[in-house]
Formats: sequence, structure tokens, C-alpha cells
Amino acid sequence: MALIRLIYASVASNIFKSNDVVTILNVSRINNAMREVTGLLFFNKHFFLQCLEGEEQQVEETYDHIAKDTRHEKVTILSCKTINSRSFPNWTMGYVPQSQLTNELAQSFCDSGTFDPFAMQGDSAYELLCKLKEQVPNH
Ligand code: FAD
Repeated sequence: MALIRLIYASVASNIFKSNDVVTILNVSRINNAMREVTGLLFFNKHFFLQCLEGEEQQVEETYDHIAKDTRHEKVTILSCKTINSRSFPNWTMGYVPQSQLTNELAQSFCDSGTFDPFAMQGDSAYELLCKLKEQVPNH
């Protein structure tokens, strides 16, 4: 079965609470380990940008659950491609929280100077996630 990489963006909804991130990561790491899905999640307290890698069926199943979650909205796929190998193999779900460094990095990928993942091309979102990966231990 083919390996794929899916990248989507979304916005935290008005029911989202800041400690939901911990719950989401705990559930994600259990589910993703079972499905052999790996990836990275970036959250800047408004937008989510997430990459999911794994076998096509497992990634699609994971995304279907995520897309129905009411803690975020405007869930939009930026890119979905067949890949030869994983770029985020070390994490069932790596997490990059907001910091001054990530703010500057994320802004540098947007022409407007303000981070808006919905305005990004898939390839650019992928490159940003690869740069953000360097902020996670054991990258
Ligand atoms: P159940 O726990 O049975 O929940 C049923 C429904 O309610 C689902 O639609 C679920 O999304 C939603 N839900 C669950 N808890 C809450 C809550 N506290 N408030 C509102 N709605 C809720 N899951 C993964 O497995 N892997 C991931 O990589 C992953 N990444 C995520 C990234 C983001 C930004 C978000 C918001 C969620 C993510 N999740 C991820 C969680 C995912 O959306 C599901 O909650 C989880 O997969 C469990 O799915 P379920 O259908 O078994 O949920």
C-alpha cells in the first residue's frame, strides 16, 4: 500500500480550550501509533497546521476523525501526495507550540508577513513544517 503525506490547516473553534492540546496529543499519540501514522502539529493559538504520514488508508481514516472534530473548523487540505519515505518518522505526533522563533519562521513563509496557512501552497506548508521540525527534540 502507498505511503502518503497529507497536510491540512484549520482554525481553533470557539469551544476550543487551551488545555485541549494536551488531550488531543495524548489521544493522537495512542491512535497514530496503532495506525502507524506519524507527523507534526503546529498550533499558534489560532491556526493549526498538521502533517500526517503513513499508509493511505490509515492517514485517510485519521483525517476523517480529525475533520469531524468540533474543537476546530475550516479544516482544509493543503496537500496530499504519495511519498517514498516519511519526513517525520520519529513522532506519532510531534508538537510545535508557538514561540517568538516559530512566529518569525511562520511569518517568513507568508507573503503578507502574517501567518495564514490558508494562503499557503502545499509545498510551502511542507517546507515550513520541515523547518519547524528542527524545533522539536530528536528531530
Ligand atoms: P471520540 O472520542 O469517539 O469522539 C467523537 C467525536 O467527538 C469525534 O468527532 C471527535 O473528533 C469529537 N471530540 C472528541 N473529543 C472532543 C472534545 N473534547 N470536544 C469536542 N469534540 C470532541 N486524532 C488522532 O487520532 N490523530 C491525530 O493526529 C489527531 N490530530 C488532531 C489535530 C487537531 C488539531 C484536532 C482538533 C484533533 C486531532 N485529533 C487527532 C483528535 C481527533 O479529532 C479525534 O478526537 C480522535 O481521533 C478520536 O476520534 P473518535 O472519533 O474515536 O472520537
